[in-house]
Amino acid sequence: MANRKILVAANWKMNGSLESIRHLIKALTQGISNETPTEVVVCPSFVYLSELSEQLNKTNIKLGAQNVSHLEVGAYTGEVSASMLNDYGCEYVIVGHSERRMLYQETDERVAEKFCAIQSKNMTPILCVGELLEERESANTEKVIARQLDAVIDKVTIDAFVNTVIAYEPVWAIGTGKTATPEQAQEVHQFIRLRLARRNKSIAENIRIVYGGSVKADNANQLFEMADIDGGLIGGASLIAKEFLSICHAVRK
Ligand code: PEP
Repeated sequence: MANRKILVAANWKMNGSLESIRHLIKALTQGISNETPTEVVVCPSFVYLSELSEQLNKTNIKLGAQNVSHLEVGAYTGEVSASMLNDYGCEYVIVGHSERRMLYQETDERVAEKFCAIQSKNMTPILCVGELLEERESANTEKVIARQLDAVIDKVTIDAFVNTVIAYEPVWAIGTGKTATPEQAQEVHQFIRLRLARRNKSIAENIRIVYGGSVKADNANQLFEMADIDGGLIGGASLIAKEFLSICHAVRK
């Protein structure tokens, strides 16, 4: 079995203030060292990237962004390009989050374009996929996940997944306090890995597939113990230092 290092990424969304993120990052830098068993990433709002890029320099915490423009440069008011994120030392960028898909009408095609923009600047996309409650209840989970994945693979080819993290985030579990059971999550993670393996076995074996949706300190261990769950994308719990640090120290037995 491939030796995939657990990845724990914080998605702070549109939360925090300069003061509160300074407190949070101080606690995180004190709690994460090179002994920490997981790879840790924080994704703040764009405006805090500069602050964090200074504070995280020479720490074991990596910097990520929550979004990016699919375009490179020009008259696109309010947009932020991949090269700008690169300037601030971002190594990861979340793409295809369900909040972006639903609230900002990001289509599968747009997600694929953003994915390309991220990789063109040598950053790693954290590609989010996941089904709505009604899609799960109508037994369409696999169909939806396959569509979301294939839209990206068809554009960039499977080879681009060497440098990719996939986040399985059932929409019904995000911010609701309803976590998928480890078995429910494992079933979809395995489906994703098998689907990638149809195109390239080694990429499928090595890619990290993390779970997102109400991960907390008290359920992280059980989730990360599943064979195909390689960490978590953490929303609400990542805003509480003690909670997030405890998730970062959850390990596979
Ligand atoms: C998310 O939005 O990516 C997420 C997983 O949020 P939460 O942990 O709050 O469910």
